[in-house]
Amino acid sequence: MEQYEAVIIGGGPAGSSTAIGLAREGMKVAVVEKRPFPREVICGEFLSHEVLSALRDFGVFEEFLSLRPQTISTFAFVSERGVPVLRSLGFPAAAMKRSLLDNLLLKKARSSGATVVQPADAASVNRRRDGFEILLKTPSGSQTLSANYVVAAYGRSGALDRALHRGFASIRSGMTGMKYHVPRTMINEFPEDQIRIYCSRDIYCGVNSVGEHEVTLCYLARADGRTPRESLSLLLERNRGFRALFRGDPVAGMEHLPRYGTGNVFFGPRNLVENGVFMAGDAAGVIGPLAGDGIGMAMASGRLLADVLLRCTKTGANRLQMERFYTTEWRRKFARRLRTAALLQRLAMNPLSANTGALLMTLFPVLLDAMIRGTREPTSADSPVPAFR
Ligand SMILES: Cc1cc2nc3c(=O)[nH]c(=O)nc-3n(C[C@H](O)[C@H](O)[C@H](O)COP(=O)(O)OP(=O)(O)OC[C@H]3O[C@@H](n4cnc5c(N)ncnc54)[C@H](O)[C@@H]3O)c2cc1C
Repeated sequence: MEQYEAVIIGGGPAGSSTAIGLAREGMKVAVVEKRPFPREVICGEFLSHEVLSALRDFGVFEEFLSLRPQTISTFAFVSERGVPVLRSLGFPAAAMKRSLLDNLLLKKARSSGATVVQPADAASVNRRRDGFEILLKTPSGSQTLSANYVVAAYGRSGALDRALHRGFASIRSGMTGMKYHVPRTMINEFPEDQIRIYCSRDIYCGVNSVGEHEVTLCYLARADGRTPRESLSLLLERNRGFRALFRGDPVAGMEHLPRYGTGNVFFGPRNLVENGVFMAGDAAGVIGPLAGDGIGMAMASGRLLADVLLRCTKTGANRLQMERFYTTEWRRKFARRLRTAALLQRLAMNPLSANTGALLMTLFPVLLDAMIRGTREPTSADSPVPAFR
């Protein structure tokens, strides 16, 4: 049985960021990732300034640029009335396919000294008197790792939530999501540097360019028994701005495209430590996608957790102190933006508040600025974001 100081379950932005933070300080770390990379996942693929700053801190910003990210500098909110409310974002942002971004980060975790076990599905985590045993299912059979610390960075939901008896695992949220990479030939003119949010009752959809020939189209819907295709048809029916985006019949066109979905997204509070296992990224808390800050938050929570583990092991803090420290710091850093994003999501999915909100934002653009600021870490002079084309 291979022994590690920390085993991280999940090689997405949270898992890779935790691994980079720990491995580059010399900790013996393994990342377990169940899918071969590169792979796509559901996501609007909007990268806020926090992601860009983290990439710079990890020393991979030049490599990121070589992958030709799309610069995003304006935001448009389109309610059912179809008239976009436009605003400059006020911070550097980009868009890139998750297959490229996640691969870049996991590669960095490996070159920082982490062992990457992939593909391997962490099937169970058992607590022992002196640490943990993690059972992996791999294509060649099973394998067990042991570790002093286990980090769950496996995303918004997984079989391990039930195994760890997490309270929300049995709740049906009814929120589902879907992503497509839509060829530009299917859509009318679309500003390259813009992220646009179209909304209607029980659904909103983000659209932004990703690469030269495609846009990412990604939506979150309250399903109420509807299929993803039916939710999309409703948005087309109700939001004339969204309808005007497409050439021809988008539902029929998208039928033939690969799609990446998620079901039952739970946005409520979660425990940050479960039976001694530290949660990072979406496993710790899911921010409304409207904020476009899930990846930034996942990376920031991974870095925070790495800092806490390193600092506590240096000072000889016991496990309970570590757990309390992480929980307090996580809440201090993220609780307010989770609440703001949840409120904005509710408003956007209600046509009355979305239409009124759009009108108010046209009259008082500072409202839109405040909304954008409320869901993310401010940029500050002592943490400048990297210069960006
Ligand atoms: C509709 C929608 C749109 C979004 N749009 C945006 C956006 O535009 N911008 C943004 O910043 N955020 C967006 N997000 C949020 C963002 O996608 C997440 O916050 C982010 O991916 C969280 O990263 P993570 O590392 O915590 O989890 P994930 O990215 O989900 O990574 C988890 C990894 O763990 C692996 N894994 C799972 N279970 C196991 C297991 N048992 N063993 C081993 N490996 C396992 C998975 O294969 C995966 O690679 C959106 C979310 C949704 C639902």
